[in-house]
Amino acid sequence: MNGICTLCTKPAKLIDSHLMPKSVYRSISKGSAGHGQNIVLINGFNRSAVYSDKQAKKHLLCESCELKFSMNGEDKVIPLMARPNGFKLATKIKKFKPLFHTEDEIWYFPPNDETAFNFMYFAASIAWRLSATDWSGFGIPETKNSIHKESMTAFSDYLLRNTEHPTNTYLAIYVDNQIVDTPSMSFPAIKNHEGHQHIVFSIPGIKFSMLAGSDHTSGVREIFSINKSNVYFVSRSLKSHPDYHFMVNFLKHEAVAKGRLLKEREKIHNGRIN
Ligand SMILES: [Zn+2]
Repeated sequence: MNGICTLCTKPAKLIDSHLMPKSVYRSISKGSAGHGQNIVLINGFNRSAVYSDKQAKKHLLCESCELKFSMNGEDKVIPLMARPNGFKLATKIKKFKPLFHTEDEIWYFPPNDETAFNFMYFAASIAWRLSATDWSGFGIPETKNSIHKESMTAFSDYLLRNTEHPTNTYLAIYVDNQIVDTPSMSFPAIKNHEGHQHIVFSIPGIKFSMLAGSDHTSGVREIFSINKSNVYFVSRSLKSHPDYHFMVNFLKHEAVAKGRLLKEREKIHNGRIN
């Protein structure tokens, strides 16, 4: 399909771009024994949960921009996520230089500028994709322009490699320190705060927590001011993270089941097992 590339704005043949990398879908469907290719897509916005193997993708980018996304972000980050045969980032993080410990968490500096760059680039590319177009056909609310214009400009400049860092953007990468027995993925969700936005998404074993905008509480600036990459890695249990409890409670009590999930629930209620 020919059109205008949403990132570089040049007329080009457009590639089918995924919101979340195709390789994450592939890994989750292979890794979840007994679940076949079913992925439960949790949606905290409209309080629903659906089984979905429909991959969110759109004609968005030209080949050259898509290649930038793969080479600088995905290709470096995805091999490190939790997989059935191991979790490389969980092993690597133990050798990173610690910044501080709390009861539940250990914060680490990135091991080198390149790793910090690859994770920031990956996170910025996912956040940018969310807000660059409308993904509401894929079970999430309307997303176009959900990220403030100022941050989107910072992301675009950075993704095109015109700037070294995305302006006013801070990233914490939470790495599960427990066995990842339920590999899952969540689409980016945005929380609006005065003067900045909090963007959160996850891939198996890793949760990305990004703060974007010029007006942050002083604590954020203080923590990040000693590290010019604006990236930290945090080892902790993702199961004890408040968001995980939200998800579990949500599934148990609140989810408005839709589609196949609803049908399966009905089967269980009718006492049938298949
Ligand atoms: Zn392009």
